[in-house]
Amino acid sequence: MNKPVGHVVDTACPLDCPDSCSVEVSLENGRIVALDGGHDNPVTNGYICGKVRRFGDRVYGADRLMRPGLRIGPPGSGEFTWVSWDEALGRVVTAMREARERWGAESVLPYYYGGSNGLLTQDTTDARLFRRFGASRLARTICASTTSAANQALYGKMPSVTYADYVRAKLIVVWGANPSASGIHLVPYIREAQRAGAVLVVLDPRATPLARLADLHLPLRSGSDVAVALAVHRHLFENGLADEAFLAAHTHGAERLRERAREWTVERAAGIAGIEPDALARFASLYAQTSPAVIRCGWGLERNRNGGNGAAAILALPAVAGKFGVRGGGYTLSNSGSWGLTKTWVGADEPRTRLVNMNHLGRMLTEPVDPPVKVLFVYNCNPLATAPHQNLVRRGLERDDLTTVVFDQVLTDTARYADIVLPATTFLEQYDFARAYGPISLQLVRPVIDAVGEARPNVEVFAEIEDRLGLAEDGDPRDEIEMMLRVMDHLPGTIGEALRSGARPSPDFGTAPVQFVDVFPRTADGKANLFPDELEREAPLGLYTYQPDPATERFPLALLSPSSEKAISSSLFELVRQPAALTIHPEDAHARSIAEGDAIRVFNDLGDVRCLASVSPTVRPGTVSLPKGLWSRHTANGSTANALAPDTLTDIGAGACFNDARVQVEKTNDKTGIGDRGLETGAIPVGASAGDRIH
Ligand code: SF4
Repeated sequence: MNKPVGHVVDTACPLDCPDSCSVEVSLENGRIVALDGGHDNPVTNGYICGKVRRFGDRVYGADRLMRPGLRIGPPGSGEFTWVSWDEALGRVVTAMREARERWGAESVLPYYYGGSNGLLTQDTTDARLFRRFGASRLARTICASTTSAANQALYGKMPSVTYADYVRAKLIVVWGANPSASGIHLVPYIREAQRAGAVLVVLDPRATPLARLADLHLPLRSGSDVAVALAVHRHLFENGLADEAFLAAHTHGAERLRERAREWTVERAAGIAGIEPDALARFASLYAQTSPAVIRCGWGLERNRNGGNGAAAILALPAVAGKFGVRGGGYTLSNSGSWGLTKTWVGADEPRTRLVNMNHLGRMLTEPVDPPVKVLFVYNCNPLATAPHQNLVRRGLERDDLTTVVFDQVLTDTARYADIVLPATTFLEQYDFARAYGPISLQLVRPVIDAVGEARPNVEVFAEIEDRLGLAEDGDPRDEIEMMLRVMDHLPGTIGEALRSGARPSPDFGTAPVQFVDVFPRTADGKANLFPDELEREAPLGLYTYQPDPATERFPLALLSPSSEKAISSSLFELVRQPAALTIHPEDAHARSIAEGDAIRVFNDLGDVRCLASVSPTVRPGTVSLPKGLWSRHTANGSTANALAPDTLTDIGAGACFNDARVQVEKTNDKTGIGDRGLETGAIPVGASAGDRIH
């Protein structure tokens, strides 16, 4: 792109995306006029996603929160009277004090996630405040807790294969991931590997952009990943293709895995997954025969009742097939643990207070719990758009005996229900650390503009609340710079030193480790545990088991809510002006007399969503898809896919089961509400598969 003439400043993107790009921000008269890829991070390579290229529209947009506010309209109205920080923080502190006096400190629940994923915006002064106060603790399980639990148990979260090594692979397996929408910088490496002759296999219920370029696409049913992976294990074990020498030297539990895999013939697994047995057999054979082979294990496969077992079975494949020990071989999951950060910088011990699973927010706010939640403090997060069982969450937020505080950059759906809103700075107005979890990189984030309006950074606001509550201690870091220096002091090895001197830090093993050469399982004996007893105990039916599909006659369609290329979960969706569309296969649409662009109702016993239809073979029959993180403004009735998602938990890691939503769809002939919510109905609706692009 042609950059406008002006001042260009370098920073990095800390948002919840694997890539952590270096970013060049063009400024004119102190205002952002363009954002583009930087060159400090080789993976960024001068380009960034379309989402962040538009980030200036968030910074200066109509939804930006400029001042603290107190709600004056009914819950959900988003009508506020604007007040000073002093008054707003006074109200927050009074609400927290009163709740503690009457109900105990656990009646205060902090609720937060990766809206700003940097190291400073969470687990610094916020954690210090809530720990010292004795608030309820939050189990951050809405994403990645399931794959993470499997990765921890099998390999102690061994660092993963990084993007650059994909060009060395001869077989690339992308399983439950859509890098064209999130983590886009992996795609060019895969394309380069393909040009060099690598075979690409994609396992996904949707024909994602990469699936359409793959040599083999297995459109498996959501939740059947464990069956498919176990069939590959069986193929390896039963045909003498398992790497017995590797298993003996570097693993435990292979025999028990072999036993569990025995019943999973290709035919049986293919039947469960709804795919052709020949295609599954071809995949098993390709995986057995081709090296180096790398598996990109995504987070899409964990969002169901079998997610943990699916992840464990997939992660065990490179061990059984002997794919480690060579550049371009092994697996990729999250590399966030590569730096060995223990967050000792918080400066307060974690109390043994109530631990609340964030997937159960609706229950916590509406069911009798002791003590009741009286103050909900939401930051870096928009739970009305992102938590399951949306209608229950909404009912909770409507409680008139609940004080809800929302500290955010924009007036989110959740913020509309807040009693008190506090305006937060974006990553372009504050310091932070951007830690990638695809590549292995850690960069400084620098403010490139002054704070907009009266927005303030997380570090300083939580420190001030702490002070007002009388919880501050001598020597506490209280502002961004002090906290940043403390974090640097607590980073392991020479990482902090490198950051201070402007160098690119690296862990001891480098930024492109070969698994079982440069890095080994971080387990007690350095071996992989292919049958961890704790997972056997935790999973309802045991390890490497399959729980049947929850579809019923009334609700036969599986609803997926995958990442969109237009937003990062719910962040930045405020900038999308098109109405939402449900992608539905032509066979399912025809059976319901639904045509492209029809107004439809998607429903189950939990709720309904009124939106448009996008008829497309890019989802498999029996599966429909609506983007993750939509805002209420994108549908005719203000509900999104989360209104249909149960708040049941995954088999391992207590994660969210969004993709276990089973629904029915009907045509309504009623477009009321679509187009009268300030949306542009002429453009391609968000979620329509025509919007997919190859990056
Ligand atoms: S969201 Fe991801 S791809 Fe986009 S700029 Fe940030 S790190 Fe890069």
